[in-house]
Amino acid sequence: MELGSFENNGDPLSSRFPRVGKGRWESVPDSDWNDWRWQLRHRITTLEQLEALLPLTETERRGVAGAGTHLALAITPYFFNLIDPNDPECPIRRQVVPRGEELVAAPWEMTDPCGEDAHMPVPGLVHRYPDRVLFLVTDRCAAYCRYCTRSRVVSGVGDQHLETNFNAAIGYIRAHREIRDVLLSGGDPLLFSDDRLERLLAALRAIPHVEFLRIGTRIPIFLPQRITPSLCAMLRKYHPLWISIHMNHPREATHETREACARLADAGVPLGNQTVLLRGVNDNPSVMKELVHRLLMMRVRPYYIYQCDLVRGTHHLRTSVRRGLEIMEALRGHTTGYAVPQYVIDAPGGGGKVPVAPDYVLAHDAERVLIRNYEGRVFEYPEPADAGVYAEPPVPAGTRGEAAVLAIRSALVQEWPSGAVREVVHGRHC
Ligand code: SF4
Repeated sequence: MELGSFENNGDPLSSRFPRVGKGRWESVPDSDWNDWRWQLRHRITTLEQLEALLPLTETERRGVAGAGTHLALAITPYFFNLIDPNDPECPIRRQVVPRGEELVAAPWEMTDPCGEDAHMPVPGLVHRYPDRVLFLVTDRCAAYCRYCTRSRVVSGVGDQHLETNFNAAIGYIRAHREIRDVLLSGGDPLLFSDDRLERLLAALRAIPHVEFLRIGTRIPIFLPQRITPSLCAMLRKYHPLWISIHMNHPREATHETREACARLADAGVPLGNQTVLLRGVNDNPSVMKELVHRLLMMRVRPYYIYQCDLVRGTHHLRTSVRRGLEIMEALRGHTTGYAVPQYVIDAPGGGGKVPVAPDYVLAHDAERVLIRNYEGRVFEYPEPADAGVYAEPPVPAGTRGEAAVLAIRSALVQEWPSGAVREVVHGRHC
């Protein structure tokens, strides 16, 4: 192909990101529809509003009726339009429409599964890891996820209330020189007005030992209209500032959300995505692969897949760790490395994030490590001496090195009789 035959055809990927459009709100002027405050004012928050738009199942009706006692119902009109009204198991619907199962807690479920309250030196500030803090700046979100880890405080209808002491929290960060990383979360910090958010960012940026600011938000997914040029112009003054969005299903990767992420990326904000592994939403390798591919096209790096925390009333949304490992197995090596997030379990009670991964190291001794790749082929890699200096002649082929590898191989073939282990590729020193 000659260089001259390339044409600027605009955005060749745009057809992969459909516009959501106004749907049931067709008569609303564009100026309102695209106004994030209009979207917030017109959220669906009651059983009557929801039933008028969507035929509800019996469990959903019970769930909505009970939502006011533990985690409120709220769905923006924009996000509502992603729901398939004819599918009671629609993956978008499962995330935001309450169900009766929420009203029953499994014995292992907890109010505060990550033990945040026990690690709060001042109200609203969680200091669990030595060098970083989680700053809970609001209890409100644009819409409420039925599996929310902080449902004990988020939305303001549960037993607990978030009473963040901003002055005390900033004073604590200022006094603790080991804190180099501050994550703003909640609730959703991007629900603040530009001015209010800027005052907070400016106060944190003025602390010399704070190197790194982060915001955790689902606004680009629930309310992309909020990502205005003026918000982005303000955010870019406080770099290095990173943002973690929260997308769970490829259907959420719309034209509107892609544009919102592009505005943030163009403002120099590195973007990562956190996905919660949810039954009936994304517990499927092909769905997850489509999601991570769309994220890369949106300039968002898939960052974490979280095993769903043990929050009260979320057992119907939780899927097994085994399933999560299968999904990771289906991603690693089968797609771009940038597209592969880390799968983590937030250890119950405050143990922090623990990475979990399929086993790629099959055996390991002083002389070698046996590893397998994504195709099930097994390789031997020589383990260098600690000093990193070659000191002894290699073990001749057919002696103890060979025998050990053959023994491990035979054990592996027994363990995976399906033929996943196809061969052992020996390192040169055997
Ligand atoms: S956006 Fe985040 S904080 Fe808000 S309800 Fe969803 S998971 Fe919870």
